[in-house]
This record gives sequence, C-alpha cells and structure tokens, in this order.
Amino acid sequence: MNIELKNICKNFGDSIVLQDINYEDDINSIAIIGPSGGGKSTLLRIIGGLLTPSSGEMYIDGKKINFDEKSLVMLRRNIGFVFQSKGLFEHLTAMENVILPLIHTFGINKPDAVQTAGKLFDRFGLSREKDKYPSQLSGGQQQRISIARSVAIKPKLLLLDEPTSALDPEYTGEVLDMLNEFQNDGLDSIIVTHEMGFAKNSCDKIIFLAENTILESGKSSKIFREPKTKQLIRFLDKIL
Ligand code: ADP
Ligand code: MG
Repeated sequence: MNIELKNICKNFGDSIVLQDINYEDDINSIAIIGPSGGGKSTLLRIIGGLLTPSSGEMYIDGKKINFDEKSLVMLRRNIGFVFQSKGLFEHLTAMENVILPLIHTFGINKPDAVQTAGKLFDRFGLSREKDKYPSQLSGGQQQRISIARSVAIKPKLLLLDEPTSALDPEYTGEVLDMLNEFQNDGLDSIIVTHEMGFAKNSCDKIIFLAENTILESGKSSKIFREPKTKQLIRFLDKIL
C-alpha cells in the first residue's frame, strides 16, 4: 500500500500540532518515532481516518481521501487500530471481544467469526484464554488479544499507537514478536513506538516527527546509522 501526504496541517484551536507534513512511500512497515507531544498520535489518527486534517491532502494507493463521512467509513473498514491501552470490553470474554466487530461491523456469521478468531488464538498460544475475561488475563495477553481483534477483520493496514507503552516491561517482547509475525506475513503497518530496537530491526522505514513536522525519514538502517538533524541525534542519544 502506498501513502502520500501533501502539506498536511492540523491545529486544535490556536495550537498548531502538525505543520506541512509531506511524505510519499510504500508503507510496508513504518515506525513513527519522536519526542512526546510531537504530534505522532495526531498523525496516526489522520492516516486512520479518526481525525480530519485542517488542511492538506492524503492519497492511499493514488486515491484521494476526501475526509467526508463516506470515505472515512471506507478507510476505517480497511484499517486495524491498536492503542496503548488495551481497549477490550471488560464484560466480554476474549473470544467475544474478537468476534464482535466481525459480526456487527463486517456482517460475518458467528460460526465463521469464531473460526477466524480461533485460528488467531491457536497461532499465538491464546487458545486456553479464549473464554476468560480481560481481568483474568495478563497485560501482555490482553494486548495480544487486542491485536488479534484488529487483525481478524483482515485489514489492509495496521496502525498501532505505542502498543507496548502501558505494559509491564516483561510483556513487551511477546507483543512485539506477534507484530513481527504480521509484518512477515506482508501486512502493512505503521507503529508509533519508543522501542528503538523494534523500530530499527523490524521496521523498514522510520519517520522522525518532532517540532510539529517530519524532520527526517528514510530506511531504518540508514536513519539510525546516520541521523542528520541535531534533533534526531539528541533524541537517539537520550533514548538509546
Ligand atoms: P504525541 O503522540 O507525539 O505525544 P500528540 O499527537 O498526542 O503527540 O499531541 C501533540 C500535541 O497536540 C500535544 O501538545 C497535545 O496536547 C495536542 N493535542 C492532541 N490532541 C488534542 C486535542 N484533541 N485537542 C487539543 N490539543 C490536542
Ligand atoms: Mg501519542
């Protein structure tokens, strides 16, 4: 999937959060990195059709996204979203959480939805958890079930906003390993992350977002080896 962002700007009232975002590339796997408050979540929400830019244009596979209700609904149907907090429904079991959007948003019948979910549970060692409620699961299991829910709808693009930030550190690895499997399956993804090892080793490309705009972008191998701007050098010094 190809994405093109042309002069995307976003302000909330008087405060400018994104200014002149320009980017064009095949997505494959992109990590968005940068200091907090830099606009990473805002950009991800615009790409996912959850927020409308104040100005600028976005094209997916060459097709202009108009940000009207119809194109936003289309966009969201093709995108899986994973947030920092797990966002599972507490009163539903793991299985019910995963099949709910399949049945209600995608009109899939229950046996097929259960089969799709069951395959994901099997693949990621979650089968014994399927009838448990979120409160009975570890943070890592909950987040992996959230990812399973986002992937079950067979999205064309997976967007993740700091999916490991709210977890105890011991669960980070299992969540990132799961993401890596979907990347290897060929699912396009954009992840906002502070896990620099994952950004460097598992993501093809990096967008460094700071001071309201993209200060650097490119192949991850190159970005980490030869950061150019003083802002990125300082950011990497601090975080690595
Ligand atoms: P990041 O994800 O890089 O930490 P965000 O995109 O969350 O950054 O936020 C960037 C800036 O935009 C912050 O200063 C934040 O306070 C502001 N902001 C984000 N969402 C809103 C909103 N809905 N209303 C007003 N300000 C917002
Ligand atoms: Mg954020």
